Formats: sequence, structure tokens, C-alpha cells
Amino acid sequence: MTASAERRLGDRIASSIYRDPDYLDDPVLGDYLQSIWQPLMAAARARGELGAELDERFAWEIMLIRNRTVNAFALPGGYLGVHLGLISAVENRDELASVLAHELIHVTQRHISRLITKQNQQMPWLLAAMILGMMAAGKNPDAANAAITGAQALSVQNQLNFSRDMEREADRIGFGVMADAGYDRQGFASMFDKLQQASRLNDNGSYPYLRSHPLTTERIGEAKSRLQLEAPAPLAVSPEAGRARLVHAMMAGRAHVLGNAGVEALRFALAEAQRVPAAAVLTQRQAGALYAGTLAATRLRDHGEARSLVDKLKTAAAASPLMAQAVELLSLETDIAAGRAAQAARLSSVNSRAAVLLQSQADLAAGRPQDVSDRLQTWVTSHPKDAMAWQLLATAQGQQGQTLRAIRSDAESRVAQLDYGAARDRLKAAQDLMRSGRDTGSGAGAHIDGSIIDTRTREIDQLLRQQALQEKLDR
Ligand SMILES: [Zn+2]
Repeated sequence: MTASAERRLGDRIASSIYRDPDYLDDPVLGDYLQSIWQPLMAAARARGELGAELDERFAWEIMLIRNRTVNAFALPGGYLGVHLGLISAVENRDELASVLAHELIHVTQRHISRLITKQNQQMPWLLAAMILGMMAAGKNPDAANAAITGAQALSVQNQLNFSRDMEREADRIGFGVMADAGYDRQGFASMFDKLQQASRLNDNGSYPYLRSHPLTTERIGEAKSRLQLEAPAPLAVSPEAGRARLVHAMMAGRAHVLGNAGVEALRFALAEAQRVPAAAVLTQRQAGALYAGTLAATRLRDHGEARSLVDKLKTAAAASPLMAQAVELLSLETDIAAGRAAQAARLSSVNSRAAVLLQSQADLAAGRPQDVSDRLQTWVTSHPKDAMAWQLLATAQGQQGQTLRAIRSDAESRVAQLDYGAARDRLKAAQDLMRSGRDTGSGAGAHIDGSIIDTRTREIDQLLRQQALQEKLDR
């Protein structure tokens, strides 16, 4: 299977995941995962594990899934899935890095395409349908309308399971990549310990990572001996590492609340946070509890309590820029939810995706659509696949009466999530509007806006034709 064919298969699966209600674009957790993922990619490149062809052709995108189980998985074409449950279950970023490094190596070693080529004579479109059906069945085994039954899913799962050799390869190379990327190698071993413990405690299927990644005693032994051979004795935790742990605890708290929307779970998280005393120095557990409690209070619409909890975090975050940034974002999020966007202070620096999008949400809520248009026009030029940015831009343009531009931005957000049909529908609507002679809100720029829309319509039509042709060939 060529890299391009694998990418097409991955795109097909990804476009369905984007439309799944459990797909979650959370910019804060997204940035956090990227901060762990990018050093792994760089280390894999430097070691020659990731060649130029795959680097360029594959998507290299991490998709966050609203699911409490501890799981991460590699999909064809360089898409990775990470469950919220994994982020909230791991103790530190090193453990998260060890899982991501392992999945990264499944992709770079082309394990997926080897499985497909070796064991499956099915056509790619059927394979995509089966992988999606398997994911749906795993999500809700009782669903009567699941695309594929549990037994079928299991059989596909078995066919698509990585071999023991592949698992060992992903462990071995992944271990080297994470070490080169500067992570504490202890993370690999402690992750194994955690999973092994979980499998002993918990056999109700809530740790599917164990099923797709057979955890044999042999693999654990190898991980530990690798650690003894290659790693120096673990250092005492430096202040910087200590603060990184606090940031991790806050992100784990976020993942926990986003994955547990029930009122009981939210009340529990809130009560936990209320027991944390105000202090200049917080433990990992306390920082995580305060962060989770703030979000939980917001979701329970207890905005006063959310404010007082986030203020407790602010005191402790003063010593660390990393922590301070995470707390500043949470604080603004709290203000937006409480309807105080207009009174809230602007972010001190708008230098990350989460900051760009959150500040834009605040500006929209505060009636400053022009600021949003200015900021996001620049942003989407360098990040054309950012569907959420396009959506916010469309809203800002709509508020400014720029109907034509708003429709186009909406169409671009569909393109970013690979839904070309929906994008074309919107662009056609924009063309109809132009021909109707009504005011499109473009003023003197009407001619330019019109020609952009015509060009994009032609390009999307072309993409749709290619896609249809490709599907015929794949069948
Ligand atoms: Zn694996």
C-alpha cells in the first residue's frame, strides 16, 4: 500500500470521525498534546525513523475523543486518536509521551499498511467502513443500529491487531524516540505498571488500550531492563519538572471534567476542589482538583464559585509562566461562561492556538467582531485547516453584515474537516446570493470576494470529481 493510498483511507475515516459527536476539538488540550507530540516527531526525524515522504504525505493529526476509557490508537495515514480517559489517567507528561511514541512508531514503521496488505484482501472503502464500525461498536456495544455487530467488530479487530513483533518494535523504537525527545524514560516503565495494575483491578473492558496492545509480562520485562541498561538513575525532580507536573495535573483535571458531563461527577469534582486550602504552593493533586473544580462549577452554572476557585489557582501559578498561562486561559473561559466577557482582561499574550481562539470567543461575546476578523484572517492564512477558527471568523463576519465572506468562511470550515460536499453547497449558495443582486455586505470589495468564491467553487468541484473517481478505482 502506497503512502498516498494509506492517506486516502485515513482521510475517509477521519472525515467520519469529525462528524461524530464524540470528536472533540478542545484547543487547550490540543495545544497540550501538541507540546508533547512535536518533540517526539522531531526526535523521530532526527533518528531517521520518520522519512521525508511520510512526513509530507501523512496528516500527523491527533484527534481527541470524548471517551473515558484509557486508550490511544493509530489510524491509517498518520491520524491518531487519543481518548480523554488516557489524559486524565496518566500521572505525568512522560507517561503520555510514552504512549504517543509507541503509536507514532506503529505509523512510521507502516504497521497499519502491512496489516492491511498482509491479511486483508478487502477493498479500502470496505476497510474504512469496517474500522469505523469497529470504533462505533467499541463505543457502544449495545447499540442495535451499530454499523457492525460486536462479533464482527471483534473479528476485524483481530485481523487488524498488531502482531507481537510489531508491538515489541513499537516499544523498542518508541522508547528510544521518547528518550531522545528529552522525556523521562521512567515514564515508559511506569505506564506499563499502571496498565498492568489496571488490568488486574479492572476487567470490565474500561481499559481497551490493553486489548489492542497486548501487555505481556515479557514486554514489561523488556521495558524495565531497557530502563536499567540505558537510563541513568532518575534525578530528583527539578523545580521546572515539578511545575510541568502541576500543568499536567491541571490538563488531566480538564480531561476528566470534559469526559464526565454528568451532574454527579461535576458535583464531586467541585466538592473536591472546595476542600483545597488557599496556598502559595500546591501539590499536583490540589492543582488538578482546583482546575477541575473550576470547570465543573462553570458547567453547573455556579459562576461565583468558579471565580473563587480559579483565583486560588492564580496565587499558586504566579511563580511559573507555564502554569500562569494555563490559569489565565481558564480564567477567561470562566468569565466568558459567566457572561462577563466585556469586563474581562484581555490575555497578556495571544501566542498559542488556544489563546487565539479563546480571545476571539471573548471578543465575539463582548461585541468586538472587527478584532476577531483581523486576528483570524491572519491566523487562517497560516492555519487553513483550522475548522474552529474558520467558524469563529464566519460568526464575526456575519455580525459585521459581511454575508458573502461569512458563507465562504463557513465553507472553508467544512473543507478543513474534509466535507467537500457541504462546502460546495455553501459556495453555491454564495454564488446564488451574488447573482441575486442583493447586498452581500462586501461593499467596494464585492468583485474580489466574488472571484475568490468562484475560484474556490471550481477547486472544490475538482476535489469532489477526483474523490468520486478514486472511489470507483478503490472499489
Ligand atoms: Zn501498539
